[in-house]
Amino acid sequence: KDAIRVGIVGYGNLGRGVRMAVKQNPDFQLVAVFTRRSPEQVDADGVKVEHISRLEDYKGQIDVMILCGGSATDLPVQGPAIAEMFNTVDSFDTHARIPEYFAKVDEAARRGGNLSLISTGWDPGLFSLMRVLGEAVLPEGHTYTFWGKGVSQGHSDAVRRVPGVKNAIQYTIPVEDAIRRVRNGENPELTTREKHVRVCYVVPEEGADLKRIEQEIKNMPHYFADYDTTVYFISEEEFRANHSGMPHGGIVIRTGKTGESTKQKMEFNLELESNPEFTSSVLVAYARAVYRLSKEGQVGARTVFDIPIAYLSPKTGEELRREYL
Ligand code: NDP
Repeated sequence: KDAIRVGIVGYGNLGRGVRMAVKQNPDFQLVAVFTRRSPEQVDADGVKVEHISRLEDYKGQIDVMILCGGSATDLPVQGPAIAEMFNTVDSFDTHARIPEYFAKVDEAARRGGNLSLISTGWDPGLFSLMRVLGEAVLPEGHTYTFWGKGVSQGHSDAVRRVPGVKNAIQYTIPVEDAIRRVRNGENPELTTREKHVRVCYVVPEEGADLKRIEQEIKNMPHYFADYDTTVYFISEEEFRANHSGMPHGGIVIRTGKTGESTKQKMEFNLELESNPEFTSSVLVAYARAVYRLSKEGQVGARTVFDIPIAYLSPKTGEELRREYL
């Protein structure tokens, strides 16, 4: 059987994660990494690195491009442009802009005769699947998503932009009591503040006004003002020792009833020591599905909702029926 030939576009956390994930999937072959930086600058552990301007030269040599750029500014440009040249998979996670992004990628992919799966990972991605499954199975009920404990890159960046902050990290933490009430089937109406708290670890610049930094963080609109936020000031050493990982995770809970008052509960839980490495593993599984569906002649954009789960697995239908039904 021919290997599924993939390329990585953008070599950050996700790009590195995809390189590692491909190693665990013997049906894949990683052809090259593409970057906007000069290729000499990027060390991809022995994998060939090309400048992104050379993408087109690889037409016919790569079955699926795994797009690992950032959602804020990279993917809105790269997603549609590359979908016109190759089958693609990406993890676009700006929830509010997904419909618009889908339309752009869909048009480009159809123009090029390619298949593109957008917005996979864990959220959006596996969590999205669970939300749909929960509602389909228990139409009378409530769905709750809790995130964390985990590092939010966006919020960490926002704290690092506060004057006087040398380095910082932000953890999103679900409120235990809220989870308890949801699991109990109480169907609580939870405000933003009641669901999650935010905890920041900040390395201040020397002589910085700590009180001012703390107030500026806590009152920051959109990011922190609607939450209970705790700020801890720590040393550079402590930061390096205890806060250099990128853990994340969360829980999707569907509670509902069947019949008159029979309580039912579905729960999906992720505890990730590395958010990007896990997200990359999801990207690779979906790249397998894209490869197969494109071989069947499918074109255009898709989301996780459109992909039969058997297409994610390297096993045959017969194996899956025997082992997992
Ligand atoms: P990074 O910031 O690590 O990488 C983004 C891009 O920045 C890379 O593709 C790379 O492009 C460039 N870059 C990376 N490192 C450097 C560097 N040292 N110097 C200059 N440029 C660099 O982002 P992540 O990989 O952590 O995340 C990418 C996106 O994945 C996020 O924006 C997020 O939206 C999404 N995501 C989605 C999840 C989901 O569940 N759906 C979960 C987690 C993340 P280039 O090589 O071209 O320079």
